[in-house]
Amino acid sequence: MSEKWETFQGRVAEVRGRIEAACRRAGRSPEEVTLMAVTKTHPVEAAAWAARAGIHSVGENRVREAVDKITAAPDLPVRWELIGHLQTNKARAAATYFQRIQSVDSPKLATRLDRMAGELGKVLPVLLQINAGEDPNKFGAVGGEAMRLAEEALRLPHLRVEGLMTIAPLEGGRETARRAFAHLRELRDRMRTELGADLSELSMGMTGDLEEAVAEGSTLLRVGTALFGER
Ligand SMILES: *Cc1c(COP(=O)(O)O)cnc(C)c1O
Repeated sequence: MSEKWETFQGRVAEVRGRIEAACRRAGRSPEEVTLMAVTKTHPVEAAAWAARAGIHSVGENRVREAVDKITAAPDLPVRWELIGHLQTNKARAAATYFQRIQSVDSPKLATRLDRMAGELGKVLPVLLQINAGEDPNKFGAVGGEAMRLAEEALRLPHLRVEGLMTIAPLEGGRETARRAFAHLRELRDRMRTELGADLSELSMGMTGDLEEAVAEGSTLLRVGTALFGER
């Protein structure tokens, strides 16, 4: 974030170029894929730059850090989404400040968020975080837990379950990432059939694996480093 606006614009163009190329190879339209700017560890100006560049979805992974930024710039035309692990004791703040929570990874957290959203008089959009690559270092529901989580979350009146989110395993490179993304899409398709839910959002792909994610059907890429530099 020490760079200039022009540098940032160049990076946005580069990322958009990567997305367009990946879409072309996959026979998809770039309109199907939303670019989210991940601004964690960067000052609130990063979100302002994103908005100015036409990126209106911003991801943060810590509640406290995000709330500071959101309250510092309440009029920014962006939607703030939580993409990091959420502890139940921060559920109220998260339900208050974020427009969507992508890291719902247990029935307990879902139930808690549902209650908070109910108290706030709103229906809270969420994604279910799945550990699709079964990486022991990552959060997210695994195996049979995932279907149970979806079943329970879909029943809660104050949550709107819009889809699934995953982070590819740290190890194994792009091929491993691609398998995890394919697994997430297949799981979503199974949930559609078995639970009758739409679940159209597939939040998968970051700086290092966005091409694989687009190839496997991603609808939302969460990109930090390629936009703002190394953290
Ligand atoms: C940090 C983060 C990203 C962005 O990662 P980059 O490699 O910097 O693009 C995406 N998703 C989540 C959940 C993150 O925590």
